[in-house]
Amino acid sequence: MASGKAYVIGGGVAGLAAATALAERGISVTLFEAGPQAGGRCRSYFDPAMGAMIDNGNHLVLSGNRAVNTYLARIGAKDALTGPEQAVVDFVDLADDRRWRLQLSEGVFPAWVFSRERRVPDTRPADYAGYAPLLLAGRNATIGETVKDRGALWRRLMQHFLVSALNTEAETASAALAGSVIRQSLARGGHASRPRIAHPTLAAVFVDPALKYLEAKGATVHLGTRLRGFGIAGRAARALEFHDGSITTGMKDAIILAVNAPVAQGLLPGTTAPDEFRAIVNAHFKTAPPAGTPAMLGVIGGTAEWIFSFTDRISTTTSAADALVDEDREALAARIWANVAKALRLEGPMPPWQIVKEKRATFAATPAQDAKRPGPRGPIRNIILAGDWTRTGLPATIEGAIRSGETAARLAAKHLRL
Ligand SMILES: Cc1cc2nc3c(=O)[nH]c(=O)nc-3n(C[C@H](O)[C@H](O)[C@H](O)COP(=O)(O)OP(=O)(O)OC[C@H]3O[C@@H](n4cnc5c(N)ncnc54)[C@H](O)[C@@H]3O)c2cc1C
Repeated sequence: MASGKAYVIGGGVAGLAAATALAERGISVTLFEAGPQAGGRCRSYFDPAMGAMIDNGNHLVLSGNRAVNTYLARIGAKDALTGPEQAVVDFVDLADDRRWRLQLSEGVFPAWVFSRERRVPDTRPADYAGYAPLLLAGRNATIGETVKDRGALWRRLMQHFLVSALNTEAETASAALAGSVIRQSLARGGHASRPRIAHPTLAAVFVDPALKYLEAKGATVHLGTRLRGFGIAGRAARALEFHDGSITTGMKDAIILAVNAPVAQGLLPGTTAPDEFRAIVNAHFKTAPPAGTPAMLGVIGGTAEWIFSFTDRISTTTSAADALVDEDREALAARIWANVAKALRLEGPMPPWQIVKEKRATFAATPAQDAKRPGPRGPIRNIILAGDWTRTGLPATIEGAIRSGETAARLAAKHLRL
């Protein structure tokens, strides 16, 4: 039986995972989210230029993301992700219009690497073994130092995959974080590496069912309610301060702070946190994709890196996109549309479009930034940290954010039982 109350600050996926995990344990929880809607960096909204609901960015998760699967099962959205039944991914190289399909083997043994039809064109099995050192890399090593391959496998798959997974230029990104992504996906085989996409929107899968779940469990969710500060006395938070008043808290209460890194540092001075970020740019085009277009297409040699096809729109993603954020939006849309038209063999004028630039999409997954990530426990005994930027062992991803929320909920439940 809980002796105190549970509060969650921040309604991104980390906060929603924490709140739903507490509610599942029968703990009464109150969540405060500053924005008018929950979801944080994983949100959907109606865009007037598109005349449709869009996501702030396409989000890919993999079938083997354990925390994602547990969270979606809890909130009743287990079957809401879509994607191919097998771990297959289609690619096009815009330089020579070459097209291929990567077809991973279901099990752990990588038979696909030994099949010319299933692996990346112009690569040899030995090339793949060159990435094994990532699995053993120390925390200070970069991918550039750890992997020597700069041939077809690097250009046509691994550089692409690693930039997307880490949202950081592959050369300077952390080899250890790359290793943990590979350990949980490619190294476990196709059953853990099937691409999974939120359909029709991110909110429909990751956010709305969580809010419904919290409501059904009697939790309270306050949107548009920004925490301004903590009243701290000794090593405990004694109050949550909002613009129109405060809530008294005690040592027996558990507070999960699941806000983004700069906000956490502002609210809790002295918190170490990553302070370098990378952008992600998404382009959305209001047109139905041609019949037979894969849900996700890897694009080599373009500004767009991935093309996602939905029933009513085509969207592209470019990671580590800091060089694009100051570019003129119209010119950028035209350049990306040219990539899409070539990749999907489309003709005709550019349809209505929208460019979404998330300047601080994630922290930069370099060894130096990774070293700044704090664990869930800080100096204030009744405040627990969560968020994709905390020390999850993964880059900033939905899987990492949910994991951090689950860990925080576990610690909060323990604290409440004291
Ligand atoms: C464009 C884009 C594409 C991405 N693509 C992928 C992908 O393909 N796959 C993947 O796994 N991940 C992807 N990510 C990363 C993923 O979105 C994040 O890792 C995840 O959403 C982070 O969740 P979070 O809860 O830790 O943080 P946030 O989403 O930042 O949540 C923090 C919340 O706290 C709220 N808040 C802030 N201050 C306060 C305050 N004072 N009081 C109350 N509330 C406050 C914020 O409004 C926000 O809702 C992408 C991110 C972006 C931006």
